[in-house]
Amino acid sequence: MLEKYFSAPKTLARLRAGLSGPHIDGFADALERDGYSHGSAVRYLRAAAHLGQFQQRRHETLADIDATTLDDFGRHRRRCRCPLSNGGKVNHHVVFGAKRFQTYLFETGVCERDLTVRLRIVEPVLIVSFRDWFRKHRGATEPTLRHYCRDATQMLTSSVRISANGMQAESGSSCSIGPISVARVLQNT
Ligand SMILES: [Zn+2]
Repeated sequence: MLEKYFSAPKTLARLRAGLSGPHIDGFADALERDGYSHGSAVRYLRAAAHLGQFQQRRHETLADIDATTLDDFGRHRRRCRCPLSNGGKVNHHVVFGAKRFQTYLFETGVCERDLTVRLRIVEPVLIVSFRDWFRKHRGATEPTLRHYCRDATQMLTSSVRISANGMQAESGSSCSIGPISVARVLQNT
């Protein structure tokens, strides 16, 4: 609910007006659910209302928001003259808030464009070498390799330290894949 973040009736009415108005309470709930701080949520909600005004002045809708819109909005805030906006304060919160609002609009089906940048999970170089070595020298099958590599990745993320005499796990991690083999592979990498 918007009242968690704003109390002045004038502000509440302003935020609930315009293109973003029908979505602003739901956006406030989403920000609270996602654990945004009070200060960030306030800025993001203002940005959402501002983005609605921006689109309205361009004779566009919230469904039209795409990556170019967000870029334009980022430039617009420097020379903003939108009535009732909080002025064109130049700070990153406005752009982050607008992006988060677009994500919310996508999640709720208002906007069809998914602008979320998806991070590709990249396998650490050492694990790639480990996988290749096991495939070549032990003829391991793919399911076995997956199992071994998952365990080896866990070992790496548990601060495994390789010493001249073999391997020592700093955090006492245990592993089911024969640590000596792993150590040899990693040492030869
Ligand atoms: Zn503006």
